[in-house]
Formats: sequence, C-alpha cells, structure tokens
Amino acid sequence: MSQNSANDAVRTHRCGEINTHLIGGTVTVAGWASRIRNMGGLVFVDLRDRYGVVQVVCESGQPLDLARDFRLECVLQVSGTVRPRPEGMVNPDKETGAVEIVAGVVTILNGCAPLPFQVDQAENASEELRLKYRYIHLRHPVMARNLAVRHRAAMAARNYLSAHDFLEVETPLLIKTTPEGARDYVVPSRIHHGQFYALPQSPQLYKQILMASGVDRYFQLARCLRDEDLRKDRQPEHTQIDLEMSFVRESDIFAVVEEMVARIFEEAAGLIVTTPFPRISYDDSMNLYGSDKPDLRFGCPMHTLDDLVPGCGFSVFEEAVAKGGTVRCLRAPELGGWSRKQVDELEELAKKHGAHGLARTKVGAGGFDTGIAKFLSPAFQEALTERLGLQEGDLLLMVAGPWDKTVASLGAVRLETARLAGWIPEGTWALTWVRNFPLFERTPDGAGWTACHHMFTQPRPEDVAGLESDPGAARAQLYDLVCNGVELGSGSIRIHQRELQELVFRIAGMQPEEYLGKFGFFLDALGFGAPPHGGIALGLDRLVMLMTGSPSLREVIAFPKTTLASSPLDGSPGHISPEQLRELNLAITPPPSVEGAGA
Ligand code: ASP
Repeated sequence: MSQNSANDAVRTHRCGEINTHLIGGTVTVAGWASRIRNMGGLVFVDLRDRYGVVQVVCESGQPLDLARDFRLECVLQVSGTVRPRPEGMVNPDKETGAVEIVAGVVTILNGCAPLPFQVDQAENASEELRLKYRYIHLRHPVMARNLAVRHRAAMAARNYLSAHDFLEVETPLLIKTTPEGARDYVVPSRIHHGQFYALPQSPQLYKQILMASGVDRYFQLARCLRDEDLRKDRQPEHTQIDLEMSFVRESDIFAVVEEMVARIFEEAAGLIVTTPFPRISYDDSMNLYGSDKPDLRFGCPMHTLDDLVPGCGFSVFEEAVAKGGTVRCLRAPELGGWSRKQVDELEELAKKHGAHGLARTKVGAGGFDTGIAKFLSPAFQEALTERLGLQEGDLLLMVAGPWDKTVASLGAVRLETARLAGWIPEGTWALTWVRNFPLFERTPDGAGWTACHHMFTQPRPEDVAGLESDPGAARAQLYDLVCNGVELGSGSIRIHQRELQELVFRIAGMQPEEYLGKFGFFLDALGFGAPPHGGIALGLDRLVMLMTGSPSLREVIAFPKTTLASSPLDGSPGHISPEQLRELNLAITPPPSVEGAGA
C-alpha cells in the first residue's frame, strides 16, 4: 500500500480537469509554466500538463514572492482555491476557461534554462533545433495530440486483431536480409568476426515462416528499417501494422483490413469511413488517373482519344498514335478562363513527368477556341464534344506520347489542377484498393526483370504457365490500400510452393547459388508444408499522418530522424571507440578521395 495520503499527493487534479464544478474547492496541480504575465502586484501563470492548461493567479504572500523566480517552462506545483474568472475574462475556447486557481502555496519543482525556442512558437524554429530539443516540442498540444492519436490507432489495431484470433508475435531484429528493395542497415557481429546481421526491412520472411509454423493469423506492430535516400515522406525507421493469414483469398484479407481500418479511424480520430472500400485494377487506375495511388476525393478522370485521333488534323497526335503511343485528355469544367501562364505552369509539370508538351484548348460559345483548336478537324471536335459531354467554359488539356509517360504526366496535371481549382474536399477519406498489378517490371537498364512488390507474391493462377516465357505479361495477386492519393500499405497472396518461388528468384535474375545462399532457409520452410497464405502491411506513421492532417511523418513519430538520417537529439550516428572496433575486428578506412567519391 502506498504511504501517501491524498493530502501529500503531488497533485490532486490534472490541469486540464479544473472546471466550474470545482469552484470553491481546494486543488493541487502540477505542470509547466507555459505563459507568465507579470502585472506588478499580480502574476498570471498558464500551467500546462498533457491534459490541458489552467490559469493560476499569484496575487499575494508566498506565491507572489516566488513568482519573481518563475521562468517559462519551469515546473510548478500549485495548491490553491478554484474561483470563477472575473466577467469579461472568460475564455470559452478552453475547457478550463471559466475558472482560475488562486495560488495559496507554490513550489518550484524544477527550473528551466533559457529556452532554444518557445513551445508555442516551435514552428518558427529550424527543424534541426526542434529535433535537438524534441522534448520541448513534444510539450506542444498538437504534438501531444499526435502521440495520443497514434497510441489509440495502435490500440484499435491490436484490439481488433486480437479479437479476431490474430496472435502478436515478435520477430527478430538481427537477421540475414529482407529483400524489400532498399539497402539493409547492418550490424557487425562480435562473435563471428567479419560477419554482419541485417536489420529487418520488414518481417516478411518471418511472418511467412510463421504461417509454415501453423500460427494461422499473425500480426505485429513491426519496426522496419530501410537505408534509403530519404524523401519528404520517408524515415529510416517506420512502423507497420503487419499481418499474415493462412488459407485465405484476397477478399478475406480485404474484409479484415477494411474493418480494422474503419475501427482505427473511428477510435483514433473519431472519423467514420464506409466499408467495403471500392476496388480498382492497376490498369484502370493508371489509365483513368495516371497513378497507382489514385486520389479519388474528386473525379475528373482522363480520357483516351486514340480511336478518334486518326485524321484529326493535328499531326502531333496522329504521329503519337501511329507510333503505338497514345493521346489522353483531361476535361476541366469551368477552367476555360485560366490564363496562358497558368496553363504554361501545368505544362512545366507535365514535362517534369516526361511529356513533350501539354496541348490545350477551351470550349467557347462557338466551339473550340485558342490553343490547338485551329488544327483540329470539325469532325474530331464534334466527336470529342460528344464523347466528353463538353460544355462552354471547359478547359481541355492533352498529352500525346508513349503510354507510360503520357498517363503519368497527365495524372500529375490532374492532381495539380484539382489543387489549384479547389476541387479537393477537406475532411473526406477516399479509401480504395488497387489490385491486379503486374508481377514484374523491367529493371531500370531494361535488361532484366524485378518484382513489382516483392519476390514472394503469387502470380494469378492463369499466368503461372507462361511466367518464364513472358514475365512481363503476368499479373500478380498483389494489392495496395490507398487513401487520398497516399499509399497506406501493400500486400499480396504469397507463393507457397518452393518450385514456383525458385522460378521467380531466377526470373528476377538470381542464380541458384545466390538465392540458396540468401533464402535457402526460407525455401526449406516452403518445402516442409507451408500452407497457402497472404497478408499485408499498413504504414502506421502514414495512417496517423493522414488522420491528424500532419504535414510530415516527423510530426507523428516521437523521435524521428532528419532528412540526412541523423538524430540531432542524441547525435547519432556517431563514432565508436577504438576498443569497440578492436572487439569487432573492424577498421575504419579514410574517406574516399574527392576524385574517387563519385565512382
Ligand atoms: N512486407 C511488405 C512490405 O513491407 C508488406 C507485405 O507484403 O505484407 O511492403
């Protein structure tokens, strides 16, 4: 039993709990001095804890004497009486806004050094400074809310999965390698000189081995470590809601994930999403939206004009189609008034995505007007008007060229047009499955094949026979969950037969020596009776970023890294001592010379 009685408790209430019900009562609260206003004979302090902010008034005696020593963010314990705020001083925006505590006794529990930035002005500090003093930034109510949403999201996932017979199993951090397509972080072994562990890029192989172990339904909130060049929405460490199921089809996995995601949205952020989520094929997604992560919060799909183009009068279009390419068109209602400069900016964007140009025209009172209108035959204009249901005021944007560059560039134009035109409704959640991806894509040099997702994905049954002769034609039992144009996760039905897995390794350019060396243990597990299985991993950080409307992943990870993969908080990565190097039998060589650096 605790020796503490209620009287000597450090606090009787949390700051955020002080409200009109407590008027006349005595309370003790503790927290950080988030604002200090010295009015001479009166000092107001806003005292903050995780639960809210309460106004404390030091108006006489010991509290007023001590108030001289208050520093911003010092830690105070305040005992006093709750009273209503004087008329006109009530703040209706705060739970505690109708009351204040008149301090009777104040204790400074800890001082605070001069601050590198003020909590409520953190957005003006550099990212480096905010990360170095992360604990100060985390006191900000928005950051505290993000941590809480993240916690509730994790709990909602755990509770849902646990209630549906999923077992949470921890998989090792020190492993051989995972082929998720990034570089491994490696850890030298002290006992095995010259050998290294890899840190997992995901628990992929282990969760599949758990299916071979009969676990049937596995999940883990798994930390994944990938040494890749960082972009805005990447971190070297991220967390996945990772799951795997035996004896399932794609639709079984969809059902579980849809219900789980709906729970997460509701329990973490009070948001309602409707299930089931729509499904779209990879081909449709690319053809209509120019992306495998379509933002479906608004319509405005792209249209193909290929069948109308022969004889249309515009040679750029005719040549593109004659060469086996395509012509795609975006109809932007009511944007016909956009200036040439605005459309030129969209053209720059299209060019960045590989287009040669962005053809444009608009629909005026007497038909097509400006841009390429003068080249287009009346018959083509008429057919286009009918197909797209064109109306006066429409802006038409078109790209011609090879299929991949054309759809990607016009897809980027679609997104930017929607952003500029204000078509994207706030507070909507357009969740969708994208499925039926190709199994392989060409390697960047065009010489070989690489798996579109990872090498453990099962081809569609009808594509297995032709896999070796025409890998590019095979479709995979592979699916992505997309929300508002952001990929939330990827998964697949897996290969569970050793022979097929070996074939896929070979098509991906690995010799038996290499794949047996790297994945022999895994192939063995498949060979000893692995059941049919499949799974998915959802990015917890991305999910929380979306639900909280945060501008970056760094806002929803307690201790993130900078874009150079370093941590200003603890100074990592850092050097290790000569003794540690000796124990590991490692030597650090001088950095490559400037000439050699780019080699
Ligand atoms: N391991 C995969 C990934 O990290 C997800 C999966 O296929 O379940 O993307």
